[in-house]
Amino acid sequence: MTAMSDEELLRYNRHIMMPELDITGQQRLRDAHALVMGLGGLGSPVALYLAAAGLGQLTLVDFDAVDLSNLQRQIAHGTHDIGTLKVTSAKASIEEINPLINVNEISTDLDEAALTSLISDIDVVVDGTDNFKTRLMVNDACVNTRTALVSGAAIKLEGQIMAYDPTLEDGPCYRCLYGDASDGDFNCAENGVLATVVGVVGTIMATEAIKMITGLGKNLAGFLLVFDAASMEFRKLRLPRNPDCRACGSRSD
Ligand SMILES: [Zn+2]
Repeated sequence: MTAMSDEELLRYNRHIMMPELDITGQQRLRDAHALVMGLGGLGSPVALYLAAAGLGQLTLVDFDAVDLSNLQRQIAHGTHDIGTLKVTSAKASIEEINPLINVNEISTDLDEAALTSLISDIDVVVDGTDNFKTRLMVNDACVNTRTALVSGAAIKLEGQIMAYDPTLEDGPCYRCLYGDASDGDFNCAENGVLATVVGVVGTIMATEAIKMITGLGKNLAGFLLVFDAASMEFRKLRLPRNPDCRACGSRSD
């Protein structure tokens, strides 16, 4: 670990002054590499907060361009970004907040093999994509490579977050919860979502990623956090590992 510059010490002062995080935690963040899947409603606060917090290297994955209907909630993009690739627009926003962060852009559709090779040197994957097929593929690649994963979703006034921690002996994965999810998708394109709900969920996802990298607190692995903005309630449900799970279970098919 190299020492922090005066600029870094000042920029991250409010982190460093927390004894739970300290300079060691800040250095862990600086030396970490996170993959952000999807730069939409969830991925926007994830990427912006990880960058502001000083997470040293971010790889952004999204093949979409910014559309007018995104701007109600996707805060990494502005009106002048319409038509621009989301990864390019998000990278510009990140550099405005924190030019010390290294940002890689990937705007191709990844299959599981490409994703698996991409995450070989990633410390944590934060998945804010909007469909089960991609989320399950990301999960399986993380389980196979034993890479930490934070996965979130939001629809209307509700959100949910879970984490997969490869250091946990019998921690569940995303597929333990959803199986093969062949019963179709629920996404915000069909159902709508309140702007601030993706902000809450994305900010929690970024918090979990920071905790997994720094060892701060106790991460969400083993639980599903459900957020309901209508009643303003959070519920934390214990999530058992499914022994028959195709990704992390003992079954070999
Ligand atoms: Zn599983």
